[in-house]
Amino acid sequence: MSSTADQQTEQHEFQAEVSRVLQLMVRSVYSESEIFLRELISNAADASDKLRYEALTDDALLDGDGDYTITITVDKEAGTLSIADRGIGMSHDELISNLGTVARSGTAAFAEQLTGDAAKDVSLIGQFGVGFYAAFIVSDDVHVTSRRAGSDEAWTWQSDGQSGFSLTPAERDSRGTNVTLHIREDDQEYLEAARLRHIVTTYSDHIGLPIKLVDVASEDELETINAASALWTRPKSDMTDEKYTEFYHHVGHAADEPDLVLHYKAEGMIEYSSLLFVPGAPPFDLFDPNRKPRVKLYVKRVFITDDTGELIPGYLRFIRGVVDSEDLPLNISREMLQNSAIVSRISKAVTGRVLSELEKTADKDPETYTKIWENFGPVLKEGIYEDEERREQLLKLARFRTAKGDGWQSLADYVANIPEGQDAIYYVSAADLDAARRSPHLEGFVSRGVDVLLLSDPVDDFWLQMVFEHEGLQLKSVTRGSADLSDLPGAVADEDQPEAAAEADMDALVVALREHLGEHIKDVRTTERLQGSPVCLVADDTDMDINLQRILQQHNQLQEAMPRILEVNPRHDTIKALAKVAVGDGGLDALADPAHLLLDQALILEGEAPRDPGAFSARLSSLMAMI
Ligand code: ADP
Repeated sequence: MSSTADQQTEQHEFQAEVSRVLQLMVRSVYSESEIFLRELISNAADASDKLRYEALTDDALLDGDGDYTITITVDKEAGTLSIADRGIGMSHDELISNLGTVARSGTAAFAEQLTGDAAKDVSLIGQFGVGFYAAFIVSDDVHVTSRRAGSDEAWTWQSDGQSGFSLTPAERDSRGTNVTLHIREDDQEYLEAARLRHIVTTYSDHIGLPIKLVDVASEDELETINAASALWTRPKSDMTDEKYTEFYHHVGHAADEPDLVLHYKAEGMIEYSSLLFVPGAPPFDLFDPNRKPRVKLYVKRVFITDDTGELIPGYLRFIRGVVDSEDLPLNISREMLQNSAIVSRISKAVTGRVLSELEKTADKDPETYTKIWENFGPVLKEGIYEDEERREQLLKLARFRTAKGDGWQSLADYVANIPEGQDAIYYVSAADLDAARRSPHLEGFVSRGVDVLLLSDPVDDFWLQMVFEHEGLQLKSVTRGSADLSDLPGAVADEDQPEAAAEADMDALVVALREHLGEHIKDVRTTERLQGSPVCLVADDTDMDINLQRILQQHNQLQEAMPRILEVNPRHDTIKALAKVAVGDGGLDALADPAHLLLDQALILEGEAPRDPGAFSARLSSLMAMI
């Protein structure tokens, strides 16, 4: 017990999150236990990619040895399985931080999102970067011996996956990492060569490095069990849906089926291959504020970076996959990437291809396209705002809910159904779809057969600042400006509507409301916009749309909402009764409480709170006391 190695053994505790992840993972994804091998091979391949990249500028790291074979060794007698790579390796400190903590932010979120549904939870493992810990699904004793490329030192990390791990100095002839798992009693299947071969071909065939399998018992020759060529360089005719999906799982850290695969080789002025996917489900960080695209950039089969903001616009950040350039220099640095004319040409070309593929899908397979739109529409719409060049194309791709139906409509559908006499595209923008649907402002339009686009994504209010018309038709908010509905088709004949209050009565009511509401409103006026509701609030023609004001206020970019215009419906029984009061004796005084109640009611219809809930409640009570 007193060897030097033992004396140098260090004990470390796991970071609290790691213990939690370990517990949850082992319990929750047990039925999909084979994924542990995919995760470990994936780490081995990533480590090799990293070394290949670092060696571009420092070939001393390779020490004359450019072999990147990944070796899986199974020893049935010892009950162990090991995965060895010749990649970048880990130093003493890296072993501690990489395998003792969860580096990526959002681990707590990971733990919260584990559902107990194994299939779903497996997808989370990849997304949150906790793949290594999957080793403990099948093992109660994991040894990781690693030597960082360029260093002579090697260390062994060991853990039973309970509370912590130890580190001991080790010997290792070559750079890289060896992960050895002592396989649990119940998981002996992972000591069968045939089973392992099957898993590797299922999950890791696309990995561009040779993966060899050694069975210690049979003393078999090293056997390469994968195709070992970069998948995206293979001809389409060699590909199957299964191969694409498996590669998508690897490159996208995902577990769903992609909805769209785009595999092509561009030749001519710029040359690159690309294999891109539209995920079948939204990644958890789709709305992360840094909006980082995740497509991987390779140069001549060498992985360069997955920090590819220059390559893929933010509004396509849901796309996963690989772009492999033939024209960029291998030793391209971050700064060069940012300023490279080649990168920006590839970016344009890739963006164009993705959008035209989406167009094609919308045309030929509307069902799939609808699903893509439901998952990523709010992200694609960011492009309408920020990509002027592709604005028209993106507008054509956009789909909308509308007031008259439940389905999705394109702008072309909307325009095709416009009745004669309508010369604008109407929309309402609200905090969510229900609020948009409930909006009282729609009433007059819908009753006249005019459809209204229902917009409920925060981004809508921003692209609407950039798009004023489409196909010669103005885009008009139904909550802004005065609504002249008299020219609209399908106008209900006066005699078919409830009778309106007399004009003089309405004038008196408007005056009284102005008097009582004072600075709380910009104006009061009668409207044709409403049918069943007595009142609504609208923004003035020259003011900002109401929903945009709300969003800006939430983000502290607008101190105070601009006063709005209160519109009253002269055909509504309540308004008619109040108009009568307005012209009676003492009418003005009698209307003080009703005036405030009407305004608060309009606010509530907007989904907002009454200005002073106490006063609102008191007014309502005294009104009810009169029954
Ligand atoms: P992820 O790979 O998604 O980041 P993991 O839990 O699988 O998450 O691994 C954590 C980190 O440990 C990796 O990011 C990497 O830095 C390091 N690592 C894991 N396996 C290896 C390996 N075989 N060689 C070098 N580094 C590795």
